[in-house]
Amino acid sequence: MKHRLYIISGPSGVGKGTLVKLLLKEDESLALSVSCTTRKPREGEKDGVDYFFLTKEEFLKRVEEDGFLEYDEHFGNYYGTPKSFVREQMKEKSVILEIDVVGALNVRNRCGEEFSPVLILVIPPDEETLVKRLEGRASEDENALRERLARAKYELSLKDKYDYVVVNDDLGATVKRLHEIILAENAK
Ligand code: ADP
Ligand code: 5GP
Repeated sequence: MKHRLYIISGPSGVGKGTLVKLLLKEDESLALSVSCTTRKPREGEKDGVDYFFLTKEEFLKRVEEDGFLEYDEHFGNYYGTPKSFVREQMKEKSVILEIDVVGALNVRNRCGEEFSPVLILVIPPDEETLVKRLEGRASEDENALRERLARAKYELSLKDKYDYVVVNDDLGATVKRLHEIILAENAK
């Protein structure tokens, strides 16, 4: 069985982080790629676990060195997927990338031949649920919340570009659906 690259995208607050954590607990043959970002850590976030937190200067240096599989700017901060980190992990395991829609399509377009990623979009049951989850997380002010909702609409409009679209309604059922997709793709 060869190791595959799974890209999980979806609007901020849809539940990607929560789902991925549960998936990793369920299947030890999966690894998570940790992205780099220039945004400040939220409470409880750890460097090297949730993200590699870099200064803008450090980030731009890595861009120059072609150190990212893809990178982008969101809400005034840079986010990128470190190439060497993903390559190293793929020697041992299938790797999950949790990145936004544009990042996912960039990986497919720019590095599709090397990595042949499987693209999975996680969507909320409806907009009201997404608002509730974002509010529940309580890490954004009202402006940031509005910005994230506008962005969510754009992300949902690209769903036809994805290999799989999964609705995150019941948490346990959604983890199971994601795991089934991964097992089926790994077996191909
Ligand atoms: P993301 O990583 O996509 O930004 P999070 O994983 O931080 O989203 O989830 C946002 C909030 O929604 C968290 O408070 C999380 O506990 C909650 N959540 C995630 N999935 C579900 C679900 N299926 N049902 C109810 N709440 C959920
Ligand atoms: P947050 O600040 O809420 O953790 O993430 C903000 C946005 O950045 C989310 O849409 C998230 O998916 C995206 N993101 C996180 N890591 C990466 C990455 O490595 N590359 C890209 N392009 N987007 C990322």
